[in-house]
Amino acid sequence: MTQEKQGKKKTRVNRGTVSEIDLFALQHNLEIIRRIAGNRTVIAVVKADAYGHGAVEISKKFVSEGISYLAAAYTEEAKILRESGVKAKIIVLFDCSDIADYFVYDLIPVIYDMETAAAFSREAKGRGKKIPVHLKIDTGMGRIGFMPDKAVSAAVSISNLEGVELEGLLSHFSEADLSDRSYAVHQLEVFQNIRAAIQKKTGRKLLAHMANSAALFSFKEGLLDAVRPGLALYGYSPFHESYGLRPLMKIKTKILSIRRLPAGTPVSYGRTFITKRESKIAVVPVGYADGYNRLFSNNADMLVRGMRAPVAGRICMDLTMIDVTKVGDIAEGEEVVLLGRQGRDMITAKELSSRINTIPYEIITSLGSRAKKEYLH
Ligand SMILES: *Cc1c(COP(=O)(O)O)cnc(C)c1O
Repeated sequence: MTQEKQGKKKTRVNRGTVSEIDLFALQHNLEIIRRIAGNRTVIAVVKADAYGHGAVEISKKFVSEGISYLAAAYTEEAKILRESGVKAKIIVLFDCSDIADYFVYDLIPVIYDMETAAAFSREAKGRGKKIPVHLKIDTGMGRIGFMPDKAVSAAVSISNLEGVELEGLLSHFSEADLSDRSYAVHQLEVFQNIRAAIQKKTGRKLLAHMANSAALFSFKEGLLDAVRPGLALYGYSPFHESYGLRPLMKIKTKILSIRRLPAGTPVSYGRTFITKRESKIAVVPVGYADGYNRLFSNNADMLVRGMRAPVAGRICMDLTMIDVTKVGDIAEGEEVVLLGRQGRDMITAKELSSRINTIPYEIITSLGSRAKKEYLH
């Protein structure tokens, strides 16, 4: 049902490709994260449709697990959650374009310039309301936030604005995943100095948060009052070690066609794959338009009957061919797993990302977005 609601704008059709999302794994990952976070607030990041897992279902699960704070990227994402009945606090990380929406949908903005702060104040006064805001400092990510030399005076001005309640202070680590801690230490130091100065000048103790998944697992000093993990919730760590996290997402589909091809037959565009022997080639109804990256051409495996079947030739828009010669006597319609476990083997987003020199984040957001979602709960 939620799938339909979320899918309103999605017109892409797929042929039986399913993203199976394991909500028990989410519960498990949350336990691991909470053990590290201790009594700090966990702000669960659900941007980009909960990293491709379906923000509505995932957010509802978080709420039922006692999470009281969610973070979306854009106002539009937060609106979808509210319209689906999600009651938690929602911070919107990157988007202050429609100020009225924050009041209508009861959202928390992240402020990073004075004009926006003033606009929130005017809107709040006009409505006779008060709005909580969080202030973002750019401690070295170079993305969004007040520069350090402007942050304290901005916080003082904002805390004097009518209708605006300065509640939180945040920043973002740019390389908390590196074993060299020096830059993270520097960012934290900049943050802590500003935080102390704000507290001194305004008497306010703000909810301070900086830690993404990488910092959560590797940088205890940076956990502050609240942590803001995304990736770890969905079962991947930014490091080699898994920390016991369990991936939620499995992408599976069904074989469209099986063909027996003689030796020397080219497969797919550009003839980059030519059968070396008589081969059994399965056609899988997933392509780069489904988020299966074209760089997986001749460069990834899928699982059929628990065995690895390598991609043969270039990935097409809607189709991919795999070599199932070694798999045995399989039939059209059999299950193929692109991501996740089948039998005793497993293809992880880590594996796929390292094949094409990217990060698991990109694998799960792209593969997750178009498949029909089914939740195990
Ligand atoms: C995406 C994001 C996070 C979560 O990062 P992960 O690496 O997925 O844990 C936290 N804070 C901000 C501002 C983000 O944009």
